[in-house]
Amino acid sequence: TLSDKLDLVFKKLRGQAVMTEDNVKEALREVRLALLEADVNFKVVKDFIERVRGRAVGTEVLQSLAPGQQVIKIVHDELVELMGGAEDNSLDLAAKPPVAIMMVGLQGAGKTTSCGKLARFLKNQRKKTLLVPADVYRPAAIEQLKVLGRQLDVEVFDSSADQKPLDICRNATRYAALNGIDVVIYDTAGRHQIDDYLMEELEGIRDELAPREILFVADAMTGQEAVNVAGGFNDRLGITGVVLTKLDGDAKGGAALSIKAVTGKPVKFVGLGEKLDALDVFHADRLVSRILGMGDVLTLIEKAQASFDQQEGERLQQKLKKNQFDLEDFRAQLQQIKKMGSLESIMGLIPGMGKMMRQMQGAQPSEKELKRIEAIIDSMTAKERANHTIINGSRRLRIAKGSGTSVQEVNQLLKRFTEAQKVVKQLQKMGPKGLMKGMKG
Ligand code: GDP
Ligand code: MG
Repeated sequence: TLSDKLDLVFKKLRGQAVMTEDNVKEALREVRLALLEADVNFKVVKDFIERVRGRAVGTEVLQSLAPGQQVIKIVHDELVELMGGAEDNSLDLAAKPPVAIMMVGLQGAGKTTSCGKLARFLKNQRKKTLLVPADVYRPAAIEQLKVLGRQLDVEVFDSSADQKPLDICRNATRYAALNGIDVVIYDTAGRHQIDDYLMEELEGIRDELAPREILFVADAMTGQEAVNVAGGFNDRLGITGVVLTKLDGDAKGGAALSIKAVTGKPVKFVGLGEKLDALDVFHADRLVSRILGMGDVLTLIEKAQASFDQQEGERLQQKLKKNQFDLEDFRAQLQQIKKMGSLESIMGLIPGMGKMMRQMQGAQPSEKELKRIEAIIDSMTAKERANHTIINGSRRLRIAKGSGTSVQEVNQLLKRFTEAQKVVKQLQKMGPKGLMKGMKG
């Protein structure tokens, strides 16, 4: 995965004060491959990499983040930006009712299904919705929409395959206006590829309806091809947004990024299954995490930034360098972990941390145990904390009494601590930044 590869690159990046042309280049090569693998258009990738390079090179390496983590953060932020970032990507219904939504796209992309999903979405918002079947070519297309309407208890406009699509739409609009309908969703016909005849028909319908939204339905599985098709539909019809379907499959969703970059139109919804509730409002950061193939790195970074005591971290690092990880540090570390939330959830967020987590499993207490462990360490003298080897039998008994625990528990803690020490030594072999850095990224 990308995160594994970046982990390797990051190891080399560690310990540098400023990101250089060279180390950023190496990291970006991996990012570039990941984006291409995720079906992001190569031109989009090229522009994107240039932008990230511009931002990353010369950047001071934040004390609180490993340089590699920082590159990921820049990549992540830029990708989210590319996807529209903080723009309002919500469905635009700000018009006099009945508000028209026209669904367009190739055959099989998921238009009819998405019409049903949208109808459900609007029904939940207490909008009175009308579904209009305007695909008279595909056998049973009208019946398909009627079935969906029945499932949802949403009205489907009565039409038949011998009518002209434009007439159906015109009649439906009139009907909607007379019957207090809030939103009308028009399900149009598709083709296997863009053709002139279809586009003319759709242009005619668009001119008649003046829809508030023209949503291009794109099949995420078709990857690169979806980008060209989106460009074609946008040129002829001027789409207002995208519904990206079948994201429940293997598709990485890079197409969405490219469609946005090429057409300038936002993804508004994603389809995550065949069922009618499998529709999500689009979240740029979720898609970006999916494209980058890693855990929610941003969440991790925010958590780390919010809760890591900078000085404490640095002090620990100094000690780690000198191979002096002692019980005091162990306690300080446990406190950091407590501040950051459950250990498992933190570890799960860090790319490449799975292996280390397994190694540390024996050394890691549950949150419930943390309190007792702290009590035990609190009952030790400073000397004992600095050098655990002096803690003999009588000292163990004293510590157990002082902390309200048992000798057995004290023994357990000391065992855990020595295991943690081992892990720390391993980490030191891996890189100069040791455990604290490892925990941060
Ligand atoms: P249309 O020709 O564009 O109207 O496409 P349909 O709505 O008829 O959908 C074509 C096929 O794709 C159907 O089998 C749908 O069940 C399926 N489909 C649509 N959206 C999704 C989705 O988000 N995920 C999955 N897995 N299948 C979908
Ligand atoms: Mg259809």
